Amino acid sequence: MAPLLELRNVSKVYSRGVINKVSTTALNNVSLTLNENEPTIMTVAGESGSGKTTLAMLLLGFITPTTGQIFYKGKDITSLRGEERMSFRREVQAVFQDPFAVFNPFYSVDHLLEVPIERFKLAKSKAEARNKMVEALTAVGLRPEDILGRFPHQLSGGQRQRINVARALLLKPRLLVADEPVSMVDASLRANILETLRSLQRNHGVSIIYITHDLTTAYHIAKSIIVLYRGSVMEAGDVDTVIKRPQHPYTRLLIDSIPWPDLNRRWGETDIKARESEISDQGTGCKFLVRCPYAMDVCTAPPPLFRLDDHQATACYLHAENPQLSVDKLSELLPV
Ligand code: SF4
Repeated sequence: MAPLLELRNVSKVYSRGVINKVSTTALNNVSLTLNENEPTIMTVAGESGSGKTTLAMLLLGFITPTTGQIFYKGKDITSLRGEERMSFRREVQAVFQDPFAVFNPFYSVDHLLEVPIERFKLAKSKAEARNKMVEALTAVGLRPEDILGRFPHQLSGGQRQRINVARALLLKPRLLVADEPVSMVDASLRANILETLRSLQRNHGVSIIYITHDLTTAYHIAKSIIVLYRGSVMEAGDVDTVIKRPQHPYTRLLIDSIPWPDLNRRWGETDIKARESEISDQGTGCKFLVRCPYAMDVCTAPPPLFRLDDHQATACYLHAENPQLSVDKLSELLPV
């Protein structure tokens, strides 16, 4: 059976200027696989500028890779047309950071939920449409009688974000791309929304790519993690192993900067300092070189991934005694 989702050596380069072209590599040679019959939650973590939002846009088909391919159920998503494209649009849903942005203040919540039902012809009657709305709201832990008929300003940020999840759920997605879904929600509601996402995976068979700058929430929700820095994979593996025993200097610095484990403290609040000139797209070596306290001569060449064990790999020459791992084999280390 073809995987649900497969990224094969995907890179995305943005260029600007006509005569003096300047290129920025937003994502560099990322491969991952999600199996169709093993719904899981995978975290993609990184600071701002790490390429994680570019990855979300690629997964949703909003932008195309510069090199590499993305397959959904065995088909390159850039080649999907007609009914297949419609199915992809229905089955791959997104929940974004801002729970307020998708609401029109002049419409009640019902409207937000009715639009996808009409667009994808999910119900034959008004009664059936309402039943579907009730079912989706209940599935995300909301009481439909408290929500339907209300206007956005009458709801909390947490309720709005859960309505966004319910809206995605209406379409019976196979894959949810959740890009910083709790970063604009009060700390007290974060655990609630994370539990809702976990229940979608467990009870509704939805795989989730959880994109975040917040390692504490990643630890609480995901099975596996990929840490990105400036578009490249720094470390990846089982979330428990990577967070408790980080081996890449970048991951270590990130984890050292948080009191672990604490859902209410957001990882990434303290940036690791780097001068602007140091983080340009110049240089072919390790992307972390100018910030790394352990940099060596060999680091001027791009480090491959080294397989540390069955659950962890890191792209760092400090671990060069381990066997190298091709990036397209990375998914073998990621538990489901
Ligand atoms: Fe530091 Fe070198 Fe490892 Fe990069 S490869 S993280 S520069 S030690």
